[in-house]
Amino acid sequence: MKVYKTLQDIQTWRKGAGTASVGFVATMGALHAGHAELLKRARRENEKVVLSIFVNPTQFNDPKDLEKYPRTLESDLEIAAAENVDAVWTPDRDQMYPDNYRYKIVETNLSAKWCGAYRPGHFEGMLSVVMKLLQVVSPTRAYFGEKDYQQLLLIQEMARAFFLPFKIVAVPTVREFDGLAMSSRNIRLTPAERELAPRLFNIISKAATPLEATQELTKTGFKVEYVEDYQDRRLAAVWLGHVRLIDNVRL
Ligand code: AMP
Repeated sequence: MKVYKTLQDIQTWRKGAGTASVGFVATMGALHAGHAELLKRARRENEKVVLSIFVNPTQFNDPKDLEKYPRTLESDLEIAAAENVDAVWTPDRDQMYPDNYRYKIVETNLSAKWCGAYRPGHFEGMLSVVMKLLQVVSPTRAYFGEKDYQQLLLIQEMARAFFLPFKIVAVPTVREFDGLAMSSRNIRLTPAERELAPRLFNIISKAATPLEATQELTKTGFKVEYVEDYQDRRLAAVWLGHVRLIDNVRL
């Protein structure tokens, strides 16, 4: 497994891969079994697999969240090696933003709803960095988790809007034994919060309506940002203490 820091090195690797099929998984690190599932899928379906690890500052609306975001490069590289990744790219801010973020990808409808209403600038930062990563890695297939469902929709629609010649593949949410969606932020939950956390999945799965889910979540001790039904999905974001959790289920 090769680990590259610079744009030049990953570009050289990509040229060397030539016409081989390339599967790509973009992450912010702190890898867990959810990310591993994306890598496994990429491994099965492509000749080469690339993983990027970049804690993207432009998608954090809260500087404290950026500061506290877990950084576990050593164990990330162990997981990547175990999943037979060919190349890991760990760029830094200066390489990703040579323009100092003067240019952005802006979506004007879906990104204002749900998480977008509570995290101003988040989806602009996310779409901008995903566009940059895709341009450099130029994958045959790029894998994204359904865990971040609004993100997935926005990336799929961006690919269509800009005629990106990469296939965007959706991977179902990987959960803990008790139903909690795996997330790099889960390790910030206290033991008591961790016990309560799977109720989010449970309640949004069982409630008849978003309103009923909101009431039930509030009673259980969550601070609800939103619960909304969209097409065949129910999406929710809540706070448990200092940790923000999102989840979604198929209706
Ligand atoms: P992250 O680095 O956690 O922001 O996410 C990187 C990629 O992994 C995104 O496509 C996420 O949707 C995906 N991902 C994160 N957690 C999970 C999970 N529990 N199940 C499936 N995919 C996930």
